[in-house]
This record gives sequence, structure tokens and C-alpha cells, in this order.
Amino acid sequence: MHFIDLESRLARIREKVNSRIATVLDHGQYILGPEVTELEVALAKYVGVKHCVGVSSGTDSLLISLMALGVGTDDEVITVPYTWISTAEVISLAGAKTVFVDIDSRTWNLDPVLLEQAITERTKAIIPVGIYGQPPDMDPINEIAGRFGIPVIEDAAQSFGATYKGRKSCGLSTIGSTSFFPSKPLGGFGDAGAIFTDNDELAEKFRWIRVHGQARKHHHPVLGLNGRLDTIQAAAILAAFDVFPDEVGRRQKIANRYNASFEPLSEGKLTVPFILRDCTSVYAQYTILVNDRDELSSHLGNLGIPSVAYYSTPLYAQEVFTSLGFDKKNFPVTEEISKKCLSLPMSAYLAEEEQKKVTESICGYKRNLL
Ligand SMILES: *Cc1c(COP(=O)(O)O)cnc(C)c1O
Repeated sequence: MHFIDLESRLARIREKVNSRIATVLDHGQYILGPEVTELEVALAKYVGVKHCVGVSSGTDSLLISLMALGVGTDDEVITVPYTWISTAEVISLAGAKTVFVDIDSRTWNLDPVLLEQAITERTKAIIPVGIYGQPPDMDPINEIAGRFGIPVIEDAAQSFGATYKGRKSCGLSTIGSTSFFPSKPLGGFGDAGAIFTDNDELAEKFRWIRVHGQARKHHHPVLGLNGRLDTIQAAAILAAFDVFPDEVGRRQKIANRYNASFEPLSEGKLTVPFILRDCTSVYAQYTILVNDRDELSSHLGNLGIPSVAYYSTPLYAQEVFTSLGFDKKNFPVTEEISKKCLSLPMSAYLAEEEQKKVTESICGYKRNLL
């Protein structure tokens, strides 16, 4: 059984991917060719914002966002410790100080109440994350950020395609950042990412920064890097994007089936994802909480069912970040969730029989413990 079934997806779109790539080989514009613009226009329309800028990865999209906002030494950037390392990595790369804030115990996303207490005069940006595919609780976050005049970058690497009160992830705050890493909801065939904004000035800066800070040929007003999205990659993602809305629907159906199967275990034995009212998740991961996470995971492994503990190590406990000096006592929710979380097989193509094997194995295991 696959943890994420990329093969079935490829089988569905293979011909389109091939013909899209063949077109690029024919025209030969490998760097910022027409498919990059075509993808940017399609994605901006899908999200409902003015600008989309295709970049080299979801990590570079965060870094370019911070660079465009002018974040640097002496600045602080607030984010969560319960996320993939990129979210905090880019803050250090920009030369700023990471300020971790604990997550909410139900959504596992940034706790807006704790956010306000963490803001100082030096706070230059806030990066909430849409963990496992559900956007952060953006209304209170935007309200607080707005009062202090601080821009908000939504790290939507996992939540692209999800909605928050009717609006699409990546279009919920100053900047939206996403990734097309192969296993993400809109996965490409290599590394790629995109940045979204309604702000014309920021969009122009993103475009400069992704080509070495170049505004026009041989004219470099700002510091940049090589952060371009390859034309071949954009072409392949365009093929994948055709089936994406259908895949989002499939993911939600599969998540609902998981939820229903685990209903009998709901009383303290197993916690299923909590989705805010009027919001949706794209379930980049379908993640449960159990007290015996490691035992259950190895039990499933013995039955040939893959599962992964995303994220068993909070970022403040990662060796590279221990020098930041955060005390785990200040992150009780992150501590608890990181000990109990277990992500189960999930993709738009998870077959019903396979899913049944997963749920029956988990329910059987839990019942035997009674
Ligand atoms: C995957 C991911 C990223 C980074 O994306 P890449 O394209 O792999 O660089 C950033 N943030 C989160 C939350 C992610 O899951």
C-alpha cells in the first residue's frame, strides 16, 4: 500500500504531461517560457487574487516573500514550531529572529490568542501555517496583524485548494505561499512553488527577486537569487492542475470515510482532524491523535500499512534551532500533539478496499486493548 499514491495519478494524466512537456521541447523557451505565465494566470484566477509568481520551491517562495518585505537583522518573525522545517529555516536565512508561538489544541494551527502576546516593536512578519491542509484561522490573525500593521504570509504549502469561509487558501492575507513538491496536494514532477498577492508592489518585487533582483536587463535594484520556476515544470503542473479540483473532492470524500470509520473510537481513544466552521481542508495529510502512537504505527507497519509521525519533533527541539533557546514548557500543545500525531495513507486515489484495511486494522487494534 502507498502512503501517497502518485502512480495512479500519473497514469491518469501521463499523456497530458507528455504532450505539455513536448510542447516546451518544441519551442525551447526553458527559462520563464509561456507555460510559466499560463500557469501563473490560471492559479491566480483559481485562488482569486491579482498576482501569482511561479518560483523554484515552496521554501524559496517563503524566502522571497520575506526578502520582498525587507525582513532582515534585528527583525522578528512569528511562526509555529509545529510545521515542516522550511517555515522557520527561511526566517534564519533572512537574518531575522524566529519567535515561536504555540498551536491551538483543536486545529493544530497558530493560536491567535497567543499571537498577540508575542508581538513586539520588532515583529516584521507573521507566518501562520495551514497544517495538514486546513488554512490557519485567518480572521483573528489578520485582525491582530492589521492593528499592528504587520504583514501576514500564509504558508499554504499543504493547504493549496482548501477554503476559509468561502475564500481560497493563498488568498487570505498579504501573501500566500505554496509548494508543488510531488507529494503536496497539487504536486508537480520535481521542485516548484508559487507566491500569491493582491499587492502590485510586492508582486513586482517577487518577480525581481526570483531573477537576481533584476528589474530590467543588467539593472539590479534589490538583492535577489535564482528562484525561477522551470518552464518544463510549469507545463507539467498545468497538466496536473486540470484534474486538481476533482482530486480535492476525492480527498475530502476519503477523509469523511476515515472520520466515519473512527466514530466508534471517538471517546478519547482516537482524535480525528477538527475542521473550523465554514472551512475546508485538502487533507495533504489525514492525521489522527492516539496515545499509543509508536505502538500503533509499528502494528500497522507489520500489516503492510504505512504511517508517518508528522511532526514528532517540534522545530525548537531540532538541533539546528536549539540555539534559539526556546523552552518546551512554553509549548504544551505542540508537545502533546507531536507525541500523539500519526498520518495515515492519504491521496486522491486511495482505493476504498485499501482504506478499509487501514480503518479495520486500527479499530481492531484499539478494540483488543479494551
Ligand atoms: C513542503 C512544505 C514547505 C516547503 O516546500 P518545498 O517546495 O519542499 O520547498 C514549506 N512549508 C510547509 C508547511 C511544507 O509542508
